[in-house]
Amino acid sequence: MHVVEAQNVTFSYDGKTPVLEGVSFKIHEGEFVGIVGPNGAGKSTLLKLLLGLIKPTSGEISVFGTPIDKFKDWKRIGYVPQRIGVDTSFPATVKELLGFSDHDTDIYKTLHLDEIMDRQFTKLSGGQQQRVLLGMALATSPDLLILDEPTAGLDLHSKNHMTEILENLSLNMGKTILMVSHDIGMVIKHVDRVMCIDRTIQFFGEPEEAVGVIEEMFGLKG
Ligand code: ADP
Repeated sequence: MHVVEAQNVTFSYDGKTPVLEGVSFKIHEGEFVGIVGPNGAGKSTLLKLLLGLIKPTSGEISVFGTPIDKFKDWKRIGYVPQRIGVDTSFPATVKELLGFSDHDTDIYKTLHLDEIMDRQFTKLSGGQQQRVLLGMALATSPDLLILDEPTAGLDLHSKNHMTEILENLSLNMGKTILMVSHDIGMVIKHVDRVMCIDRTIQFFGEPEEAVGVIEEMFGLKG
């Protein structure tokens, strides 16, 4: 059984122009997968399909061995959206947002959230806010984590911190992680497999072998 399986998935918003076409892949348990591609390549659309928010125009998606339209166990999937803009007067503290419960303290330690539990969310740095969002996604103890640009807009220190945390979740806690990222260097260095996507899958395999495809996809090759 695969954590996620897509078979010949095609999707278009307008019923004419496909944004994704003939997309097939399998994600194994415990894998850390980075999804890269230029703007407009269909990465967010793919995440929306995997979260069941939109349905393929044709093709099949299954999660944990169940066709996605029959899948009900959504607590097994944690989603970390792109950084959200929150009204700075929003008063909730980290503890309130996480619905603090004692059995999660290990996770909070791993995410270094125990130090900022009583702080107001909107007063935190970008890196701290991103760790809180990750903490919220982990609240249901999901087996699969889906992240949309978790390191976007963070400084180098926070990027490295977030990456270490994700690697730890994958290596030591057995989470399967699917992460969209523009941070190519980080992806190549830390994930198990890279999916290069631009309407179709251009490459899906070892990070070292992805470099040429990525250069070509982003027009870096002369
Ligand atoms: P990426 O995440 O790789 O930047 P997206 O999945 O957001 O790409 O978008 C893929 C294509 O689909 C783009 O051409 C975008 O303009 C189009 N698109 C995205 N969302 C919608 C929508 N809700 N309605 C119509 N077109 C959309």
